[in-house]
Amino acid sequence: MIFSLLLPLLLAPQTDYELLREILRATEPLEAPRGERLPLYLWTAQSLGTRDEAALESLVRELDARGMAALGSWKPDDPESLEEALRLARLQKRLGLPISVNATAATYGFFDGSERTAHVDNEGRPLFDGSFPTERKMGCPFAIDHRIPVIRDRIRSAVEAYRKESLAIHFLYADWEVDGPLEWNGAWESSRKCQRCRRRIPNIESFDAFQAAIRGKRAELQKRMLAEPVLDVFPDALVGNYAVYPHDGTRYWYDYFEQERVEKYRKWYPEFEETGFTFAMPVVYPWYRGYKCTGFRWTRRFAGSRPRSRSSTSSCRELPRLRRLGPRPEAGSESRAACVREEPSTPRRALRR
Ligand SMILES: [Zn+2]
Repeated sequence: MIFSLLLPLLLAPQTDYELLREILRATEPLEAPRGERLPLYLWTAQSLGTRDEAALESLVRELDARGMAALGSWKPDDPESLEEALRLARLQKRLGLPISVNATAATYGFFDGSERTAHVDNEGRPLFDGSFPTERKMGCPFAIDHRIPVIRDRIRSAVEAYRKESLAIHFLYADWEVDGPLEWNGAWESSRKCQRCRRRIPNIESFDAFQAAIRGKRAELQKRMLAEPVLDVFPDALVGNYAVYPHDGTRYWYDYFEQERVEKYRKWYPEFEETGFTFAMPVVYPWYRGYKCTGFRWTRRFAGSRPRSRSSTSSCRELPRLRRLGPRPEAGSESRAACVREEPSTPRRALRR
């Protein structure tokens, strides 16, 4: 009995290398060349888990045959990571493949926990916002400009290493999320208690004014720490950050670190246009509790499940607290928001990344 429970675990991939091999086993080479289209960037393919040159080349070739790319990761706390990323870039150049980079680790964090980065309350005391599910001490969006050169120089020095070897970066992304200015959770309340924020946002009692100021600042940080240092050297590179994309002024999704509010669609700020980013990273999420709603058939398809028939486009009946929202999607369409909670928000479990 115990063995039967353990067997799937024993058979499951244990290392990044084994996981990638498993992905390669479970997928097939493209039937037609990828051409100019971008490859798939898999979260899993950010560490190839081998330093063996022959194994590395084999992995990269097999991923490419399936339309997938390998990413080099920059980690400021791990000096060897840049050399690993460069090794991959040299290989990608030799094979004629796009050089791709994950710069996430290098972008954290603007909020370094120092008192200097805190809000300032009416009595002049430092104030941090503890409403986000992170150990990072979220502070004042207008007290972190001194962190820009720190982060920017990390990116710049890594880019310079690529430039020295004529390794032109084609694609670079970051997953910079719970850090820097954010308007959700208790951020508005904290800023209203802060002398500095009130000075910087005279109309702070208006959430729209608060959001515009916060997102404008966030866009500026992303431009100066990430877009500029890459594009100054490699102007043709695709540079972007998670969840930053052109949109119609509304946002339909809640991120894992956001407390839900009453509204399901929210006013959204045109952040992308101010960042200087050269590619967009839209989010295809249900509302938070909808993660379990299999009405999002594309999720099931990605997970390898068989497509659902029109008569069962939503599985909301499996979740009694969910009800359908809006018209039933057309057969074969990719419904992006099929379910909504009926009950008021309740505190949810803090999630960490
Ligand atoms: Zn403040």
